[in-house]
Amino acid sequence: MSNNANRLFDKLSDRLGRLLASRCLLCTASADRHSLCTECLEDLPWLDMAVCRICAHPLPAPGICGRCIAEPPHYDHVTAACRYAFPLDGLIQSYKYGGRLVAGPALAALLAPRIRTRPDLILPIPLTARRLRERGFNQALELARIIGRELNAPVDAGLCIKTRDTAPQTRLPWKTRRKNIRGAFVVLGSVEGCHVAVVDDVLTTGATLSEVARNLKRAGAVSVTGYVIARTASR
Ligand SMILES: [Zn+2]
Ligand SMILES: [Zn+2]
Repeated sequence: MSNNANRLFDKLSDRLGRLLASRCLLCTASADRHSLCTECLEDLPWLDMAVCRICAHPLPAPGICGRCIAEPPHYDHVTAACRYAFPLDGLIQSYKYGGRLVAGPALAALLAPRIRTRPDLILPIPLTARRLRERGFNQALELARIIGRELNAPVDAGLCIKTRDTAPQTRLPWKTRRKNIRGAFVVLGSVEGCHVAVVDDVLTTGATLSEVARNLKRAGAVSVTGYVIARTASR
């Protein structure tokens, strides 16, 4: 699509999203433009406690968690809005697997105000072509597009690709997740000197984000930040 067509598409989907979402996505009370009512917004499992400076896992006090000290990830930092818990988990699931696309702008709106610096480039965690055909869309790309518009930062969906299917990380024990994902991504250009942000809906162990970050750093990125809507918090 040309840039103009892209902009028109964004505008239309934005407007459609607002029309469809004058009701709260969680309780059907009337909602603001982000599709969640004030009470549901307040009750979200916000990540408002001390967290690891690198991976954003909740901690009793600010610092770096034991796992990031023992095995430092390739990314530098994670910005997350919430814990992956009720009722946000259900909303993310219905967005990702239930075709509830109107939740995308609402989810991105939870994260955008927490982002402090503008990256040079935003990428989604890519899906393989096969997974993309099955699911019909890449939820991370849709979120990246909305966040890119908010931050006025470019989004490149084709720079990093996933070249092979991997077993779903959630079904694997933590120790085998790194191995499962290793070598599954390729960066197709240079990001020399860039601060790159990588978007995903949920961060669990961070093994996928770390592997993407490893490839981006090999391609010249000076820093890699993860932008995620929700962070699991159950080690
Ligand atoms: Zn509500
Ligand atoms: Zn950590």
